[in-house]
Amino acid sequence: MNRSILPGATIGVLGSGQLGRMFAMAARRMGYLVHTFSPETDTPTGQISDVEIPASYDDLDAVRDFARHVDVVTFEFENIPATTVEAVAEYAPVRPSGTVLHTAQHRLREKTFLVNAGFPVTPFRHVRSLADLQSGLGELGLPAVLKTAGFGYDGKGQSKITSADDAERAFASIGGQEAILEAFVDFEREVSVIAARGTDGAVKSYGVIDNIHHRHILDCSVSPAAVGPEVAQRGREIAESLLEQLDVIGVLCVEFFLGRDGRLYVNEIAPRPHNSGHFTIDACVTSQFEQQLRAVCGLPLGATEMFCGGAAMSNLLGDLWQNGEPRWRNACAFPAVKLHLYGKHEPRAGRKMGHLTARAATTVEALDIVRAARRSLTEA
Ligand code: AMP
Repeated sequence: MNRSILPGATIGVLGSGQLGRMFAMAARRMGYLVHTFSPETDTPTGQISDVEIPASYDDLDAVRDFARHVDVVTFEFENIPATTVEAVAEYAPVRPSGTVLHTAQHRLREKTFLVNAGFPVTPFRHVRSLADLQSGLGELGLPAVLKTAGFGYDGKGQSKITSADDAERAFASIGGQEAILEAFVDFEREVSVIAARGTDGAVKSYGVIDNIHHRHILDCSVSPAAVGPEVAQRGREIAESLLEQLDVIGVLCVEFFLGRDGRLYVNEIAPRPHNSGHFTIDACVTSQFEQQLRAVCGLPLGATEMFCGGAAMSNLLGDLWQNGEPRWRNACAFPAVKLHLYGKHEPRAGRKMGHLTARAATTVEALDIVRAARRSLTEA
């Protein structure tokens, strides 16, 4: 039996964005101390932490010093170099482990793991050259999606290919890097499942979440998703089985396409809380961030049930600031709406600055309310 890391202990966080911020809030509420490590200062996570260490992930002396002063380390951002994680692991447990991070931070390794473990994914090919791409297109057919193998998110580093003549342009557009070519999934909707696994192997998941994207960035999430009981059950089974097969201690988000054929295809996995799970702070017994804390500290996992019939979340991107500060009073006039802001100073277009959530009797109602509240931010 693993020894639990109890309140009063110090949790280290690699990365310093909004996911770390909401994690730090959950940790501090439960009496833990938080140290965050990233190359920046005055960060969303750092503002909530006891100690903020601004150093490069490649500065292994600083990394080791950070690890020496904490009881366990987790991360809120996947693109952490393997050497950094190894240096941390010399002094403190890293949860989830560096092996999980290594699989999830590279699309080709991720899909290869998934297919070998028998999880449903769209057919794909490894692309190292234009010739690979052309033969891949011949095998998979059109349309197809070309994605850089490493370090991509929110549709960055990817290109849809709709005709054979398009191959050269698509390969150039991702910089001629090592890539993965995927058969295009004709999907009905995009959904996700968030699940957690503790040090004792116990697993708990939240239900299936509906995700609505705009320009490749998550716009709104709704829970529970409008899917039948079989799809809901299958989504949870896949997420829970993935946690076990990857031996994750922590939280994992699985993003799926629900095909028009009624089948779920795993698109991506993220071994951390996810934007689509932000509603859990306001609508569930245990938020995804508290669940991450419980899992990495070896505490029993909390209940995942929702308090309401429907919950919705809408992201607040920097674009909302185009004509000045959004009118926060207007959103606060919706009694079921909660405002979350991440403490970022520069509202750039496409940058996630905060989000709103709404709880209601149904998902349709919750989505209507959260959208109306967001619209009100730019109304007089
Ligand atoms: P990703 O960066 O892999 O999450 O992809 C971003 C978005 O591109 C997804 O949310 C989908 O809308 C779309 N997309 C990515 N891969 C595929 C695919 N194989 N088939 C259809 N749409 C895709």
